[in-house]
Amino acid sequence: MEEAIKFMKQAIKQAQKAYALEEVPIGCVIVKDGKVIARGYNRRNTDKLTLAHAEIIAIRKASKKLGDWRLEGCTMYVTLEPCQMCAGAIVQARMDEVVIGCMNAKAGSAGSVINLLDMQQFNHQVKITKGVMEEECSSMLSNFFKELRERKKLDKS
Ligand SMILES: [Zn+2]
Repeated sequence: MEEAIKFMKQAIKQAQKAYALEEVPIGCVIVKDGKVIARGYNRRNTDKLTLAHAEIIAIRKASKKLGDWRLEGCTMYVTLEPCQMCAGAIVQARMDEVVIGCMNAKAGSAGSVINLLDMQQFNHQVKITKGVMEEECSSMLSNFFKELRERKKLDKS
């Protein structure tokens, strides 16, 4: 658990980079053999790209680093439950495990809406650990949306 907290803190640091760009603060790191091999944060608006989710960016970097599309033996630490696209990519990458900060009732695809990470029909299942630094991860998001609403109100007045 101590290790999970250590790496989730690094994922939160990534999410704060998104926050600074006024992006929804979501961050992740990919760990292999006890070392961070890739990092990513949400850049969807900045890059004007649907694919620019934190997890996809980190998967791309990890694959480049390992020289393999397979991310066997890797664990992803992500501040928010992955969406359907990212959960799909995580399964395709054959990732061992995903450690999640807080859940996403509206779009989460690791158990909230659907659990794509653990479908017996697919050829690979991903271990899921939930609720690591949940409070920090979820308050970061709610603060972001609160600020966004306040900014919109100011724009209108
Ligand atoms: Zn996603």
